[in-house]
Amino acid sequence: MVPVPARACFRFYAELNDHLPLEQQFRTVERQFFVPASVKDMVESLGVPHTEIDLVLVNGESSDFSRLVQDGDRVAVYPMFESLDIGAVLRVRPRPLREPRFVLDVHLGKLAAYLRLLGFDALYSNQAGDPELVEISSKQSRILLTRDRGLLKHSAVTRGYWLRETDSRRQAAETVRRFDLGRALRPFTRCMVCNHELRAVPAAEVQDRVPPGIRASRREFRECAGCRRVYWNGSHTSRMQRWIEQLANPKAQ
Ligand SMILES: [Zn+2]
Repeated sequence: MVPVPARACFRFYAELNDHLPLEQQFRTVERQFFVPASVKDMVESLGVPHTEIDLVLVNGESSDFSRLVQDGDRVAVYPMFESLDIGAVLRVRPRPLREPRFVLDVHLGKLAAYLRLLGFDALYSNQAGDPELVEISSKQSRILLTRDRGLLKHSAVTRGYWLRETDSRRQAAETVRRFDLGRALRPFTRCMVCNHELRAVPAAEVQDRVPPGIRASRREFRECAGCRRVYWNGSHTSRMQRWIEQLANPKAQ
């Protein structure tokens, strides 16, 4: 006798469709199986990393990732909503991922610099391996930013985001939008090179580390607590100001 497979239907909403092949986007996808697997495993086998998901409904009721999918189940999978009120039903996460601390995958060095420029704590090393990134994200509760979906499928990663954009400045804007950080920007407060916070220092203390022209025309200097680099208003601040204003007030544009 040929065993009859169980069937379950999956429907992914909004930007979760970015992870699906074109023919499966924005429609109900049926999966057949002989051995029940968890919501997490089945959803990820369809291509969507669990870190992208904020809410799962199975047959209309909220569910966690560990629930086993049964024959006949209808699984609706939602991304993180900032604006839609789903407060009455249980989210798969205890609270929205708003804490703006990041760890970045290798090759995202430029994005790290932009996030630091905006004031966010963004760890980055071009030497970090996948296990190290997963561990840092998990132990330090940092949001793992990556262009590699596979990295987000590690169970230990509960905070992560797959970047859609490839240009680093657009990625920074995407990150601010995605985590609703427009009001959390603290531009020019963090070292773009080493991620430490800057502190104000008297001009006399940094005289020997500043070009003569700058020394004559600026009074306010900040120094990195980590690498001791000196920053002052000018060049990069004025160039970036308009971009930062757009990030802070997206609706005003
Ligand atoms: Zn520094």
